[in-house]
Amino acid sequence: MSILGELSEEEVEFVKLVSDGNASAVRKQLDDKTVRVDCLDEHGMTPLMTAAYKGDVTICRILLKHGANVNTNYHAQGYTTIMFAALSGNLETTQLMLEAGARTTATNNVGRTATQMAAFVGQHQCVSLINNFFGKDDLEIYTVPRGHATEAMLPTELCDPLYKIILNSNLHPVKISYLLQENIAIMNNSTKVCKLMDLLCKKQMTARVETNEILAIKFHYISTVIKEAAKSLEIKQDNLEAWIKRMVRGRAEDGFCEDQERLIRSMLKDFPYSSSGLLQQCVRTIATVKVGDDPTALVTLGQCINGQRMARDEDLPCITCGDYGAPKKCSACKMVNYCNQGCQKNNWSSHKKMCKELYCMYLATKKRDEEEAAEAARKKEDEEKKKLEELSGGDVQAIEGAEASNGTLENGEEKGMNETSEARTETEDTSPIQLEDITTGIDDVTMES
Ligand SMILES: [Zn+2]
Ligand SMILES: [Zn+2]
Repeated sequence: MSILGELSEEEVEFVKLVSDGNASAVRKQLDDKTVRVDCLDEHGMTPLMTAAYKGDVTICRILLKHGANVNTNYHAQGYTTIMFAALSGNLETTQLMLEAGARTTATNNVGRTATQMAAFVGQHQCVSLINNFFGKDDLEIYTVPRGHATEAMLPTELCDPLYKIILNSNLHPVKISYLLQENIAIMNNSTKVCKLMDLLCKKQMTARVETNEILAIKFHYISTVIKEAAKSLEIKQDNLEAWIKRMVRGRAEDGFCEDQERLIRSMLKDFPYSSSGLLQQCVRTIATVKVGDDPTALVTLGQCINGQRMARDEDLPCITCGDYGAPKKCSACKMVNYCNQGCQKNNWSSHKKMCKELYCMYLATKKRDEEEAAEAARKKEDEEKKKLEELSGGDVQAIEGAEASNGTLENGEEKGMNETSEARTETEDTSPIQLEDITTGIDDVTMES
């Protein structure tokens, strides 16, 4: 191992190349073996830490390929590569560090883990990626028969699709069901897959080194969704259509998805390790909430597994499957978002009962927003008038200056407003989910907006 700050001349250049993002030069130096891949600068930073912090996926890959150690701990503040990756918010580099075997439980000098640090700076996707990480190798081992068994627990062709479900951080049962629909072979082997999920759950809870309650609950949850979906599939033989509709079906009085709520509540009740702290935390939260009130069991489960997530305006979730950043919205009420027409269609029989009511809410909100905007504009105008009146007592140049700057400001604002409204029409234009299209053939309710 190199000693802190003792860099050769080549290594000083190497560190700079990494920092500058010069991938080809970095590769050349490593290939020429003129530098140590884990050389340390005066702060105990390795080149991999620098590249991870910069979110430079290419250089991270090169360094790892040349044997960079993902778990060095010579950093002055005790930071590790996964901490730098998570702080940078780059999902790809974070994933790379995980795949390279980064220890997620390592703490810095003040006792913070990578996920705690990432959560602190608002990198919630990195937090959920780390919390949900499960190595591909840990699944692949089940595709070969073990011990005296003649048959593997997991058919090889199911490894990739199942791994995708395990890594998926959107816990909405419809999202999981979509992933199952994509690979219906999982459903055809549901007994085997559930048995494996239950075993993996048990392994997480009984691990000698460290238990992982997050993964254990997740495996148990995936197993539950598959088992329940399989029951529906057995009766309907319909590629899970009826199951998905059931999961989004809203009750008559308020559109609340009761079946979904009950699925998650009973899943938690059935979790075999009742002493789990995370489970108890989940159950305690849910126990005080009446079915139909907030937070839903899904939200609570998501917070336990993925951590607190700050909601941002731009990533509105799809009302059907819960994927963030759903680009389309119901053109009738403009109040619910969808990934695509498929998601809208699955939700339509529930949504049609609420759409009109939501549209009234939309109009009321819009009216209020407009009134507020008008009021703000009026206030601003008054203030400007007042300012001008005050200034008119001063010298002419000052007035001219004020007028000129007011002019540009207004123009700028006007332009900005135009841009927004243009952008808005554009999104609406590119996303015209014509509800009318969906109504025909499904139901004879006509939508008036
Ligand atoms: Zn969706
Ligand atoms: Zn609507």
